[in-house]
Amino acid sequence: MGNFSMESRAGEGPQAGGPEAARKGCVRPVGGSAYGSLDDAGNPFLGTIAVPTPALSSEAASRLEKWELQSVARFLLPGERIRGCCLHRIPGKETVDVYFSPSQNSAHYGNLITCASVWNCPVCSARISERRRELLARAVAAWEEQGGTVVLASYTFSHRRSDALSDTLPGFLAAQVWMTGHRPYKRVLEAFGIIGAIKALEVTWGIHNGWHPHAHVLLFLPLGVDVAALEAALYLVWSAAAKCCGLTMSREHGLKVQATYGQVAEYVAKWGHQPARRPWGTPDEMTKGHSKRAHRAELADSGYSPFDLLRWLIDTGESQPAGLFRQYAAAFKRRRQLTWSPGLAARLGVATEAEKSDEELADEIREESWVLAQIRFEGWRAVRLLNQRGQLLEVARSGDAAQLGVFLRRLVAELDERDRLQLERMAAARLARGWGVAEEASGA
Ligand SMILES: [Zn+2]
Repeated sequence: MGNFSMESRAGEGPQAGGPEAARKGCVRPVGGSAYGSLDDAGNPFLGTIAVPTPALSSEAASRLEKWELQSVARFLLPGERIRGCCLHRIPGKETVDVYFSPSQNSAHYGNLITCASVWNCPVCSARISERRRELLARAVAAWEEQGGTVVLASYTFSHRRSDALSDTLPGFLAAQVWMTGHRPYKRVLEAFGIIGAIKALEVTWGIHNGWHPHAHVLLFLPLGVDVAALEAALYLVWSAAAKCCGLTMSREHGLKVQATYGQVAEYVAKWGHQPARRPWGTPDEMTKGHSKRAHRAELADSGYSPFDLLRWLIDTGESQPAGLFRQYAAAFKRRRQLTWSPGLAARLGVATEAEKSDEELADEIREESWVLAQIRFEGWRAVRLLNQRGQLLEVARSGDAAQLGVFLRRLVAELDERDRLQLERMAAARLARGWGVAEEASGA
């Protein structure tokens, strides 16, 4: 375990530039984006500091991107808990702890205040969603072991570009509650032997049709069910419920049931995962504009996820995605992301895990994890102000405390240099002002 009290560890360990990370490293600008440069406190970032990081795999780029997206979301939602997420220690804790999980080959922080928002925060969302995804996979496997199968029903309704999410989302959720609470739906469950369901709420935004709230529902049922008949029966009850709540739909788009093992397995495997984006600063920088345009065209068809809106904002600095993300955050505040039907989790042997709150999952430490390092105030200040929270975890994924120590000491030195330059600039400015006053006085 490394204890990064800078006083005691300064000058120890391998020299800067020694670790594999730095040898293979590329230089990544810190805090720079088209949206403007913000540090992790949401303040304008002064200058570009070159911090060596390992060559990035797409998975690593995706993990790092979460922190960049979080900085932008925090800036957009200054009144929400995301404002302080993963920046400050929990009161009473002396250090920020870095945990390493060998079985997962992952690293994460302990003793930090988190916002636990699956909707607003790309960092907390990834953490919570990963635990929930593991649970979904266990639930599906448990039911299949009992001889059953799972199908995926996707519910939506007709909407227009001008519809406000604050109007359509409550209507959609009310229709879902209306449907599941009434006898016709329960008769469908009984007729097809459905023992329970897990519902995931999602939303995308499209250029042509605006906000698109929808729900994906895993239905647990016996093998051999006539899927076409099930879809027809569910459509009848869903369209009736939607009509009661003032929504309309077409047979083509209102409900779709997917029943192949591959479709369900793929849905569970991808659930909660953000698609990886190409890393910044790679050698194909020249083609980035083109790939961004291609990505944007693809999104225009498939719809932007809320975190795609943040990517759009970072790429262009336009105001539209900022406004859309704020609308989304307001509409989804305090909504449940995943809902289990009563009794299902207990029947599948996962009741304790299914009952865990977002807050519990965001702060949960995996059992097999151990503390790789404890970072004191000075070290954490450097990590924060140089926007290196994600990069530090990438280094920690090696499980090598000495390598992490080198990385951390380099950050502290970088910040010292930045502070020194800033002080020099301030002193020079004071001196210049002083001379100006002296010249005016002598001129008078
Ligand atoms: Zn958070």
